Amino acid sequence: MECRVLSIQSHVVRGYVGNKSATFPLQVLGFEVDSINSVQFSNHTGYGHWKGQVLTAEELNVLYEGIKLNNVNHYDYILTGYSRDISFLVTVVDIIKELKKANPSLVYVCDPVMGDQGAMVSSYPHTSSYAKWQPLLLFCDIIFHRLLTGRKINTEEDAIEVMDLLHKMGPETVVLTSTDLPSKQGDQFLVALGSQKIKKPDGTNTDQKICMDIPKVDAVFVGTGDLFAALMLAWTHQHPKDLKTACEKTVSVMHHVIKRTITYANEMAGPGKRPTPAQLELRMVQSKADIENPAIVVEAKVL
Ligand code: ADP
Ligand code: PLP
Repeated sequence: MECRVLSIQSHVVRGYVGNKSATFPLQVLGFEVDSINSVQFSNHTGYGHWKGQVLTAEELNVLYEGIKLNNVNHYDYILTGYSRDISFLVTVVDIIKELKKANPSLVYVCDPVMGDQGAMVSSYPHTSSYAKWQPLLLFCDIIFHRLLTGRKINTEEDAIEVMDLLHKMGPETVVLTSTDLPSKQGDQFLVALGSQKIKKPDGTNTDQKICMDIPKVDAVFVGTGDLFAALMLAWTHQHPKDLKTACEKTVSVMHHVIKRTITYANEMAGPGKRPTPAQLELRMVQSKADIENPAIVVEAKVL
């Protein structure tokens, strides 16, 4: 059955962040993707220079109105990433409310990243309280952790507490895509965790919590969070009641893409040189086969 995603994220002319990072893998995995570009920049903001335009809340509304007038505002998923400011977020919430009315089983996948007037995309809401995100969380089904609970995660218990707190605010599925927790496999690994609420046949709730040790690559990648969110959407669609498998497939694709990217970047940079942001752009098109059918290289542990 056809599955349609509305993805509201950044667009870049060169490279892979936001919609550029999400659309290709979703299409490869069979999804129809309708994209609204929340910004259009020349490249991501980690380069020496960047130029471009930011979509205002009013402009977002105009685009949505057009879709609605043609009665094609029917979606199975909505995916949002980086948001410039609160007014944009408020409009997004209004759109989600309408879309959920039209399709009560619509799934909202939220990667809550907030920048400052489009400038500092990577400045996650460290200091802001999660109150800012609360209206969104109410409608959110799958969420990724971006320090938005305002709590520091020092131990696995902290991580579990944060995931349970986020569940209480709405989302059924919570993923902490990367944490500073020490890995049992050593300092060459980063730890990610996930939790999914499950309704038992008797009506009561339980949950599945998982933990993954991800091999760390010594470089800073951009667009990986956006790719992670798109892949989780796709693999939870395939495995709706099996967070372990969805996470293993997601993280394994990430691993293949990142390996291919660092190999290429190092080759381009030459011996002893750190690759530039341009050389570190994700090798997305080259990873098509891995996206479609990932060899599982990271196993999730059920907690
Ligand atoms: P972002 O860097 O985009 O904010 P995260 O740091 O949460 O996003 O990373 C998202 C996912 O991308 C991680 O779960 C991991 O799979 C992958 N990833 C990102 N950076 C690295 C890295 N340096 N080494 C290995 N995996 C990485
Ligand atoms: N959108 C834009 C325009 C960016 O510049 C960035 C990062 O610099 C992102 C989104 C987010 O990328 P990531 O997936 O690494 O969080």
